Amino acid sequence: MNPAPPATLVDKYRTRAPRYTSYPTAPQFSAIAGDTVDAALASGDGPLSLYVHIPFCKSLCLYCGCHVEIQGKRGIGAVYVDVLLAELDLFCARMKPGRTLAQLALGGGTPTFLLPADMARLIAGIRARLPFAADGDFSIEIDPRTVDVDYLNTLVDIGFNRYSFGVQDFDEAVLEAVKRRQTESVVRTALETLRKRGNFQINLDLMYGLPHQAVESFGRSLDIVTDLRPSRIALFQYAHVPWMKPAQKVLEKSGIPASPLKSTLFALTVEKLGAAGYHAIGMDHFALAGDELVSSQASGTLQRNFMGYTTGAGLDQIGIGVSSIGYFRGVYAQNLKKREDWQARIDQGELPVERGLALSPEDLRRRRLIMSLFCNFAVRWPVEEDYTAELERLRPFEADGLCVVRPDRTGVDVTPLGQHFIRNLCSIFDQYFEADVASRRYSVTA
Ligand code: SF4
Repeated sequence: MNPAPPATLVDKYRTRAPRYTSYPTAPQFSAIAGDTVDAALASGDGPLSLYVHIPFCKSLCLYCGCHVEIQGKRGIGAVYVDVLLAELDLFCARMKPGRTLAQLALGGGTPTFLLPADMARLIAGIRARLPFAADGDFSIEIDPRTVDVDYLNTLVDIGFNRYSFGVQDFDEAVLEAVKRRQTESVVRTALETLRKRGNFQINLDLMYGLPHQAVESFGRSLDIVTDLRPSRIALFQYAHVPWMKPAQKVLEKSGIPASPLKSTLFALTVEKLGAAGYHAIGMDHFALAGDELVSSQASGTLQRNFMGYTTGAGLDQIGIGVSSIGYFRGVYAQNLKKREDWQARIDQGELPVERGLALSPEDLRRRRLIMSLFCNFAVRWPVEEDYTAELERLRPFEADGLCVVRPDRTGVDVTPLGQHFIRNLCSIFDQYFEADVASRRYSVTA
């Protein structure tokens, strides 16, 4: 990847565009018949991927774009676990028996908001319904402020083998501005604790584009990160969407960095992580040699879903918990977002799906193109598929050196410079994009 694109190109291509963690994107979801969801679930077989959403957080980080519920009472997690397991029963009753779990991901919110005993009960309950595959990925997102040595040991004991820590930055002024007070030592202790127990895959999440971030201080944070040596690093650009997340408005008072600084911070990250031995993966991930993301990218089997870039091609994905999204057999299904509504539906013995989409053959074709571009920075299509209009709209991108259309017009390769503009390039193949962007539903690309 080119470290930094010229400012003229950044300005030229700045727009609002999806991050394509799904295609079609969530704004296209609408009411979906229960029979459609049931039929898709019943038709699947083989190992599964399960996402579990724990929405609770103790306090709100001002940059947050997740579906969260600020909660003071940790005991509420016990009831939430009961309902999650009841929801999983509803899914299992609709699927063929004998399915196993190849991937489990707990995200949020803050999964470690749950008390350790509730966490252990949740995992035992999932295991009893869906046996864990011997070589599976069992991952959890951790807010380092919520775990002590005992809690981390519990997570290891109950079978997690992948740990992802939200860090964002180590600079005090930045953390103060976004209301996420967390020290370097708390992160360092957590990693040391896990490393005493085994050779686990550890990811750190960073964020750029936050108030008070500057080249020198962000460079220092990156030095701490490379010293901690996680096997993966995800670097997300802050998505300012105050019309959806009103708390973000407060950050405008502290000053949100403009595009040239954001580009410089991104370039600095590429340079520093590259020098420390990390491979750039897709749009915003980095991994050490030996990590599965590196081999997946090399073999063209990298995937993208609501968790970002992953391995695990072709698995049916089930989502439980408020607001979770699943994708199985060409059907997206998203749960109700309000906890009371979600629970009431499950209490009635019904899946708490609120919206979704059964993909048309055209959606499936375009989904394949967009995911290939996002994961492999290249796409090929059969000669009988016609994308004349799209190729026409790619001409300015090609003229600016961002992509190369194959001479036989059956594919596109993204250049290293063009990788910075991958959201723009993918939007060319998104048949809903023009209507969507007019309603300002997405964050800016740069
Ligand atoms: S801990 Fe994570 S999910 Fe919770 S408010 Fe902060 S950023 Fe959002």
